[in-house]
Amino acid sequence: MTDALNKGSYDTIIIGAGHNGLVCAAYLAKAGRKVLVLEAASQPGGAAATREFHPGFRISSGAHLLTQLNPGIARELGLASHGLAYAARDLKTVALAEDGAHLVIDGASVSGVSASDAAAYGRFHTQNKRFGKVLDGFFSRRQPTLVDRSWDDAFSLLKLGWSLRRLGKDDMQDLMRVGLINIYDVANEHFDSELLKAAVAMDGVLGSHMGPRSPNTVYGYLHRHIGDAWGNTGPALVRGGMGALGQAFAAAARGFGAEIRCDSKVALVEMQGCRATGVTLESGETLLADTIISNADPKTTFEKLVGHPSLDAGFSRRVHNFRSRGVSAKLHLALDALPEFTGLDGALAGERLLLAPTMDHIERAFNHAKYGEYSQAPVMEVSIPTVHDDSLAPAGKHVLSAIVQFAPYALGQGWDTGKQAFKQLALDQLEQYAPGIGQQLLASELSTPVDLEREFGMTGGHWHHGEIALDQALLMRPMPGAHQYSTPIPGLFLCGAGSHPGGGIMGLAGRNAAEAVIKHQSNGKERAA
Ligand SMILES: Cc1cc2nc3c(=O)[nH]c(=O)nc-3n(C[C@H](O)[C@H](O)[C@H](O)COP(=O)(O)OP(=O)(O)OC[C@H]3O[C@@H](n4cnc5c(N)ncnc54)[C@H](O)[C@@H]3O)c2cc1C
Repeated sequence: MTDALNKGSYDTIIIGAGHNGLVCAAYLAKAGRKVLVLEAASQPGGAAATREFHPGFRISSGAHLLTQLNPGIARELGLASHGLAYAARDLKTVALAEDGAHLVIDGASVSGVSASDAAAYGRFHTQNKRFGKVLDGFFSRRQPTLVDRSWDDAFSLLKLGWSLRRLGKDDMQDLMRVGLINIYDVANEHFDSELLKAAVAMDGVLGSHMGPRSPNTVYGYLHRHIGDAWGNTGPALVRGGMGALGQAFAAAARGFGAEIRCDSKVALVEMQGCRATGVTLESGETLLADTIISNADPKTTFEKLVGHPSLDAGFSRRVHNFRSRGVSAKLHLALDALPEFTGLDGALAGERLLLAPTMDHIERAFNHAKYGEYSQAPVMEVSIPTVHDDSLAPAGKHVLSAIVQFAPYALGQGWDTGKQAFKQLALDQLEQYAPGIGQQLLASELSTPVDLEREFGMTGGHWHHGEIALDQALLMRPMPGAHQYSTPIPGLFLCGAGSHPGGGIMGLAGRNAAEAVIKHQSNGKERAA
């Protein structure tokens, strides 16, 4: 404990002002709680951030495409009235082949493939949308538990059973079956076009330590496409970059009365006996509250802020074994002009571009990551937001943002020596698709998973705060003993991407956590009465 002790001003402290921490703060403040959010970085939003990386050139430095924002949360928090505006919505996905051919996915339709593949994609999309509706019911509530069930859990399970039944026998069987195989096999079952299969597979593996043949990649695909069930037909670009969304979440939380303090890194969770009672900042200041909620990832929360000595051995082991090995790097380019991609009409340059010609190419790129090496021919998701948003670069100039996989967090040779070479490989890949882009380059920056860990405080630089795999998802996220947003430490809760339903800019983990905390508190009061 320290000299500066602040007792009793707040009833809830949230560690981290990522979008989920801010959503949680907003709903709790709306429900009358006195909430303080403590953020390590100098601005709120977490990986929903915009940063200048070269004079006059700004980029979404973490998440760049909005695919999963829950519309109910956006509405309830009034994000539009707090400054959220879109530069573009319902972007198409353009998959580029090495020979200059390409296909364009626009919602349920796809052009640039055979008629039979186009029809198959329509069926695939529609079926996945139905699966998404089942997941939506599950994602939008605290996940149930199979043991020690409450009425609430029984109701959630009943609802899940009912929505599965409503799928009908064929869809239900298909969902059970595809959930157990991988996106490689599923894409092969549906399509002939290698490029289309690769585009589908990319959505199963982006952000994850998985190749198309890995188990759990169908769940990864469905998770990423949850926005389809909410009526999106493609990703959106936030005007001003993703940081503008982070600021809108912060304004909404403040609007309901929450206080946000940036540059306030929490060093540890204070305990009295086995109960969490407050936090101590790196500055030495201690703040007390009845309820502590962590938006930091589960490993940070339990290993760094709580510490193994306060956890029982079995739970400590689960935390240790929680997989959060990031494999995504982020490439940012400042460009003198709009690059020209071979064979691509310039009008499509502002869509979501995929550089992943075949599923085998993606799988080979992933193989390296298994052995602590970076891919020799990385795959990429590319966005050039300045086609739609002139606020990010000087007139006539552009910024390019790309997710580059696979770049393992634990690179054998270390990122100090590997970073420059990997960046060059990524630039070489781009040059193949957009000859001359190298000459347009004014500045470039690569964030490896180690850099992302440093910038956003996420263990392993993993953008879901931990792998989205069935043993770490749904009923089990992040791990038995810490699911349903509560933890083995009384008074300590989780609200970030590491909890149900996982990562992506969605907001549901934050909202579900707020509801779980409110319920927990009212149950406690009932018991005490
Ligand atoms: C490179 C990259 C690209 C991505 N691309 C996309 C994309 O295109 N679309 C998409 O939907 N998602 C994308 N994501 C994923 C998405 O950004 C995350 O899943 C999401 O930001 C998680 O939100 P969160 O609020 O749970 O956590 P975070 O955004 O990680 O926020 C957690 C906050 O807690 C703070 N914190 C941690 N420890 C402490 C501490 N000790 N004290 C105080 N504060 C602390 C951190 O500083 C951070 O602000 C991407 C992520 C990355 C990294």
